[in-house]
Amino acid sequence: MAEIQLQRVGKSYDGKTMAVRDLDLHCPQGEMLALLGPSGCGKSSTLKMVAGIEPISSGAILFDGVDVSRQGSAARNVAMVFEDYSLYPHMSTYDNIAFPLRIRGTPHNELKKRVDGVVAMLGLGDLLAEPVRSLSGGAQQRVSIGRALVRDPALVMFDEPLSHLDADQKVMLRTEIRRLQTTAGLTSVLVTHDQTEAMAMADRIAVMSQGLLQQVGSPEALYHAP
Ligand code: ADP
Ligand code: ADP
Repeated sequence: MAEIQLQRVGKSYDGKTMAVRDLDLHCPQGEMLALLGPSGCGKSSTLKMVAGIEPISSGAILFDGVDVSRQGSAARNVAMVFEDYSLYPHMSTYDNIAFPLRIRGTPHNELKKRVDGVVAMLGLGDLLAEPVRSLSGGAQQRVSIGRALVRDPALVMFDEPLSHLDADQKVMLRTEIRRLQTTAGLTSVLVTHDQTEAMAMADRIAVMSQGLLQQVGSPEALYHAP
């Protein structure tokens, strides 16, 4: 896991309007940073720039102090967890989690060891042979977290990870992600429009509005200050 820094990062898609402006952010190793704000404020653009899927228009992005701004997504090794899980529905839990290692040609013993490791960490042992389409939404999201972690990423991005879940599953998965966050020492970015979710899960929250950073701080500092 890496330490992530954004230095005056800007993004314009049309060369005129700025989707993201002069964004300064820091996510220390082992912490979860939430990007919180309404639709259109620039969260997805920021996430894509950090992952290396969209080029930045200005500024710099650093992983462990190294400027990766000109590097592609493969070199950055950022794993993504999406709201719609993005799994292969007919494939089993095991095969979905093993997939990123298979396409990299990871040797069988190493693959098995790493898949078994995340399966144990996520308590998915009973569901290994099940096709993921037969699992609950919460279990499917745990599988997609397993698939993200199996490649030992520098950073995990959670993009609205709870938004398709019902209320009970939301609470369960929120707790689960928070537990992983501390036990596995993940460095992660959570993209959400939900303040309760950001407060329950993140170490620090960056509040965005119209492409600008409004404030950043711990949940306590932002919302429980006298
Ligand atoms: P989100 O708020 O999660 O980005 P949207 O529905 O706004 O979801 O966007 C869906 C996709 O369309 C995203 O990949 C986004 O980058 C892209 N997109 C959003 N706005 C525009 C736009 N004005 N022109 C072209 N693509 C856009
Ligand atoms: P959010 O994720 O917070 O909903 P986005 O980063 O998707 O915000 O969007 C920020 C701004 O950038 C919006 O005005 C959106 O329409 C615009 N935008 C996003 N993606 C694209 C794109 N691919 N092409 C053009 N404009 C885009």
